[in-house]
Amino acid sequence: MNAETTTRTIRSIAARRTFLDGAFRPASLRIEDGRIREIAPFDEHADVVVDDAHVLLPGLVDTHVHLNEPGRTSWEGFATGTAAAAAGGVTTVVEMPLNSIPVTTTPAALAEKRRAAAGQLAVDLAYWGGAVPENLGALGALLDAGIVGVKCFLAPSGIDEFGHLDAAQLERALAELAERDGLLIAHAELEEHLGEASGRVFADFVASRPPAAEVEAVKLVIDAARRTGARAHIVHVSAAETLDLVRRAKADGVAITIETCPHYLALDAASVPDGQGRFKCCPPIRDRSHQDALWRGVLDGTVDAIVSDHSPATAELKLDPDLGTAWGGISGAQTGLIACWTEARRRGIPLERILPLFTTGPARLVRLTRGTIEPGAPAHLAVFDPDAVHTLVEGELEYRNKLSPWVGAELSGAVLHTYLHGERIFSRGEGLLARSGREVLPGGEQGRLAGTDAPLTGEER
Ligand SMILES: [Zn+2]
Repeated sequence: MNAETTTRTIRSIAARRTFLDGAFRPASLRIEDGRIREIAPFDEHADVVVDDAHVLLPGLVDTHVHLNEPGRTSWEGFATGTAAAAAGGVTTVVEMPLNSIPVTTTPAALAEKRRAAAGQLAVDLAYWGGAVPENLGALGALLDAGIVGVKCFLAPSGIDEFGHLDAAQLERALAELAERDGLLIAHAELEEHLGEASGRVFADFVASRPPAAEVEAVKLVIDAARRTGARAHIVHVSAAETLDLVRRAKADGVAITIETCPHYLALDAASVPDGQGRFKCCPPIRDRSHQDALWRGVLDGTVDAIVSDHSPATAELKLDPDLGTAWGGISGAQTGLIACWTEARRRGIPLERILPLFTTGPARLVRLTRGTIEPGAPAHLAVFDPDAVHTLVEGELEYRNKLSPWVGAELSGAVLHTYLHGERIFSRGEGLLARSGREVLPGGEQGRLAGTDAPLTGEER
């Protein structure tokens, strides 16, 4: 890799293995004003020539990230969370409407969150809003304010001010969104199927949130999406049975999509130690049969995206050995690709097969021209070494709370460099080099928020 460690802003980059149209091909990219202008034949005189052992990827897209700012910055924050994304090769994140204070359920709350983000972003950022019982009928105003879609819960969210929707409210939200071609994403678990968990035993915690809780909730969403014609998406699918339901619904033409997460694909309940809150998330990590089914869904196209559900909390809340009271949520914004690639490789699945789920899959969900190397797209890129093997250590995590289920695990692959708008913003060994991330707002909104000096740059579409 010539010049890679000295050049910060590049006009061209060449790689023998560039991920283009689903395969690795030799190519050179010409970059102008932060965008890819041209894809040309491999040119060894490019500003940067990627080593033949490495691959050049589009920057990854992670549409499920909780940064918890403003209000719970002791849990994460825009600065640390987006730095972690950059270190994971992720160049666009979409931030969840909880667990910030306030939750993002009104245009005013969104404006407050945007002010908090200004000047802190290491990568580009878009926003989800929230659908709660109180704002039904006013979701259009939230869409107009610049979110990519709304999230709802069908069981208690864990945050009092973010209430969950019942079946009738779910249908109302979808009907409202259908008129705008808006997107609803749903945390699919139903309270009536959830049991009480307490104690250190991981299997007990898993048993308290059975597959039926997810499956029955997914049925509600599919039925309501079918009736209203709205676009609906299920976040963090964990159960084998969900995949069959979704396969059938997709075949019927229902506008339903799903995501799963690296922790469901790369960890299984039998290997999770007891009394370790860093492995607790809802729905839970299940046994190998569910993991195998999720991989089948990844390979046959039933699963549309693999995203982190990066959901950190303080060490105090997470390290409670009682799994009933430990805070649920796994930190994974930095390790998504390497955790999945480690397991994919073990299963003999080539890198090309999983990359679309980290790039074009999530980008399509939120209708952004991201996660793709094509003329006109932002020059968001990552240089990845698929053959690197290392043991993850706490010290390399950029999270505010350096907790990860993969600390101490041997992982395959390493993100060597990350480029944002043609600028190298992260290199392994050097760390984060810039905070030049921008807001991504649907509709190309551009502007400057009152009370801040930071320009807020919009996005096409
Ligand atoms: Zn989440």
